[in-house]
Amino acid sequence: MSEATKTVVVRSTPLPRKVFRVFIELEGMYRNMVEQLVLYAVRNGITSFTRLKALKYRELRSLYPQLPSHYAYTVCQDASTRAKSFLKLKKRGLTRRDYPEVNRVSIWLDDHLWRLKSLMSIEIATHKGWVTIELEPHKQYWKYLNGGWRLASEAKVKLDKKNRRLIVYLVFKKCVEMFKPRGFISVDVNENHVAVLVDDKAFLFETGFRDIVLGYYYRRKRIQERYDKLYGASCRARGRILKRLKERRKKSDLKWKLANIVVRVAREKQYAVVLEELGEEPAKEMINNVKDDQLRHRIYQASFKGVQRAIEEKAREHGVPVIYIDPKNTSRMCPVHNAKIVYSNGCRIGRCSKGGELWHRDVVACYNLLLRARVGNGSNAPSLRGLSLDGSPMPLGSTATHDPTVVTRTLWARWKSLDKTLKNPKIKGMTI
Ligand SMILES: [Zn+2]
Repeated sequence: MSEATKTVVVRSTPLPRKVFRVFIELEGMYRNMVEQLVLYAVRNGITSFTRLKALKYRELRSLYPQLPSHYAYTVCQDASTRAKSFLKLKKRGLTRRDYPEVNRVSIWLDDHLWRLKSLMSIEIATHKGWVTIELEPHKQYWKYLNGGWRLASEAKVKLDKKNRRLIVYLVFKKCVEMFKPRGFISVDVNENHVAVLVDDKAFLFETGFRDIVLGYYYRRKRIQERYDKLYGASCRARGRILKRLKERRKKSDLKWKLANIVVRVAREKQYAVVLEELGEEPAKEMINNVKDDQLRHRIYQASFKGVQRAIEEKAREHGVPVIYIDPKNTSRMCPVHNAKIVYSNGCRIGRCSKGGELWHRDVVACYNLLLRARVGNGSNAPSLRGLSLDGSPMPLGSTATHDPTVVTRTLWARWKSLDKTLKNPKIKGMTI
C-alpha cells in the first residue's frame, strides 16, 4: 500500500470587508509569531517541531491569548519547517543571509482550526470565533472529492488581498494498492535529458531544464540590474515583471508531462519504475561548468529532484512501485562486459574498453539501473534478452538497441503516451 497525496487549491467567494478584516488580523498575528519563532529556531539551531513546541508553546499562547490555542501548534510546525530548510541552505553555502526572510505567509490549519461545513463551504477558527467561508469549487475539486480520496486534516490558507478572497489549500489523501512488478522501466535524469528504457528500447527526452533555468536566471538578472539603476533596489514594478517570467510554471509543466508518460507506461505494463538514488549534494560533475553555487542548486532542483519528485508522486497515485538504485558508476561501466566505457572529452557516446561497442552515456545508465534493480530484488521479472551481469559477451551490438530514440521537447510535450510518441513519423530516423 502507498499513500498518495494531492493538494487542491480552491478560492473562496469574495468576502465582505468585515470578514476579510478578521483574516488580515489573523494573518498579522500568525506572521508575527512565525517571524519570532523562525528567528529563535535558527539562532538556536532547532529544527524539530516537538522541541520548538516544548520551548515556545507557553510564550506563544500568552502572546495572543485571544487566538485559538492550536495556532500555537501550527506556527511551531510552520516555523520549524522554515528553519530546517534555511539551515540546510546555509550549511551548503547557498545563502548569504544570517536569518531567513518570512515573505509569504500561508496560515497553517489543523483539524481543530478548520472543518468542512458543507461540500461548498468551510469554517475556520479565528480570534473572533468560527467564520464560515464559501468556496468556489471547480472540476478538480469535485474529482478528488468524489473519486475515493479523503480530505486530510491539514490545510493552509492564503490571503488574496486584491480580490478579498481566501485561497484555500486542501490536501486529499488516498491509499493505493501497489501492484507486484512484472518488469522494470528505468529512468535516468540529467540536466538536459531524461532517458527512459522500456523493454530494451531507449528513449531520450529532451527537456532543456538547464537552459530554461540558465536563460531565466540571466534574464532576471538583467531586468534586476536595469531597474536597480532606474528606480533603486526596492521597486515594485520589478517584482511584477519578474513574476511574468513564469520560470516555475514552464518547468513544472514539462516535468509533470514527463512523469505522466513514464508512469502511464509503467502502469500499463505493470512495471516498477527504477530511479537513481539522489544524494543531498547537487550532482556536481554534471553541472560542473556552472560556477555559481546557488544557480547550480537551482538546476539540480529543477532537473534532478524535480523530475524525480513528479514521477514519485504520479507513481504513488497509480500504485506503481518505485525502486531506488545507487547511481555510482552507472554511466561508466559497460553493462554487458562489466568493463570501463571510455568517453573522449565531453562526448556523450563512449566505447567499451573490452567489447569495443559504442554506448550512449544515458542509455548505459539506464541499463545499469535496470541490472542493479533486477539483482536487488531477484524477482519475477522477465529476463533481459542476452543481458547478464556475469560479463559474458552478449550481442547487443549490430542491432543497435542501445541507440536511443531522441524525442525533442516540442514533440513529446504535446503527447501523452510513449505509444503515440513512437508512432509519430517525425521522430523516425533521428539520430544523436
Ligand atoms: Zn562492452
